[in-house]
Amino acid sequence: MIPKVNRRTKIVATIGPGSESEAMLAKLISAGVNVFRLNFSHGSAAHHTEVARRIRKQAASAGRYVGILADLQGPKIRISTFRDGAVELASGDTFRLDLDIAEGEGDARGVGLDYRELCDSVTPGDTLLLDDGRLRMQVDSVESRSVTCTVTQGGKLGSRKGINRLGGGLAAPALTSKDIADIDSLALVQPDFVAVSFVSSAADIYQTRDLLAQHNLSPAIIAKIERAEVVADEETLNQILEAGFGIMVARGDLGVEVGDAQLIGIQKDLISRARKADRVVITATQMMESMISNPLPTRAEVFDVANAVLDGTDAVMLSAETAVGNYPAEVVHAMADAALGAERHPVARTSRYRLDRQFSSAQETIAMSAIYAANHYPNVRGIACLTESGTTPRLMSRLSSGLPIFALSSRSETLQKLCLCRGVVPLYFDAEVYGQSEIEARTIEFLRSEGYLQSGDSILLTFGMVMGHPGATNIMKILPVG
Ligand code: PGA
Ligand code: MN
Repeated sequence: MIPKVNRRTKIVATIGPGSESEAMLAKLISAGVNVFRLNFSHGSAAHHTEVARRIRKQAASAGRYVGILADLQGPKIRISTFRDGAVELASGDTFRLDLDIAEGEGDARGVGLDYRELCDSVTPGDTLLLDDGRLRMQVDSVESRSVTCTVTQGGKLGSRKGINRLGGGLAAPALTSKDIADIDSLALVQPDFVAVSFVSSAADIYQTRDLLAQHNLSPAIIAKIERAEVVADEETLNQILEAGFGIMVARGDLGVEVGDAQLIGIQKDLISRARKADRVVITATQMMESMISNPLPTRAEVFDVANAVLDGTDAVMLSAETAVGNYPAEVVHAMADAALGAERHPVARTSRYRLDRQFSSAQETIAMSAIYAANHYPNVRGIACLTESGTTPRLMSRLSSGLPIFALSSRSETLQKLCLCRGVVPLYFDAEVYGQSEIEARTIEFLRSEGYLQSGDSILLTFGMVMGHPGATNIMKILPVG
């Protein structure tokens, strides 16, 4: 038997009308989705609960660990609604954003919105971007309850589209009353991850964690980095990283606020910062946008996914491509292929990080030593970590390597969270039923029976043993597969 090839980069797929049936979920899981995103900007809590149930059921029948990420809407600033659904705006047109235009009363001259602070947050000369930057307008004048603009990039503008200001600064507090109500509903969804949108400080993460704890929930929290102010402020950024489990490079809103040319460097910086801080990172939005309506990606899209992989991202994300697109399974396959292609390059397989750094715990020391040994000893086929909390495999996965990290645990919360970590293969294995003398042989036998190892291979094993009892990881061994 040829050992299984593992893709290291994880795929997050957003669920929507195009992908929520049981049959399609099963197809997406077999195509390689590691984490499904439930987007709380759309749909009711009851509906998300039902979809979560379907995901759990299909993951169980596929025998795979698949995570669920609940993505809270956050304070996205949106226009209100038009009388006839949408309007067509041309360059040079005058358009008003007006607090006094009622819901459903917008037309080609102006539309309402419920962001009271708009008039205090913009000044003449500012550029406003609507619908993720598809339309642009320049602010001409600011009155007490309205803003008058000239359209500089026209197009079709639909109801409820988002507004951003170039350079950032349209900021409402992070958790809205809708987010708080959605958190209340998460007891039924039982998500593995919760993403907080438009995070402006670490306090947003702490508040989310406290609210979740009131429902006895302790999912991993992902901070979406999508405000220009946050990436411009190193201290805030580091505190946000520190506060959560990971971040999302939310290129949709962030790209609109900082401009795509700036975003290139910011993506690299955020990914590298996250890994250095032992945090997980998802690169998101418009990765394979053309596959919403085409069965194949463009080469530029393949290279965008590959580039994020070479930058070191843990996961790449699909949004509309799987939520409303015509080719949900095909786009997952295309993304997986692009990631695998990038992972073959040496840049993705070796690491020089931390060679000059002191380690802060026995766990980190073992984790780093194991990756170093694995990367330098060609016989080794993988690293098996017996883990309770998942810390050791997560730390290992912060360094680049071409070898799989098998996270073996009997704790499903641990295994579910590792679904997002690059290079980690979460597997159910209860080491505690075996005596110390058997553990090594049983671990090898298990990985072999699962098709990950064959005779002649070697494996690195890490586990924790303190005076004969299980404990924090402090042992590393190189074992031959007989
Ligand atoms: P969204 O977040 O899809 O919820 O807007 C991601 C992004 O802004 O890129
Ligand atoms: Mn966003």
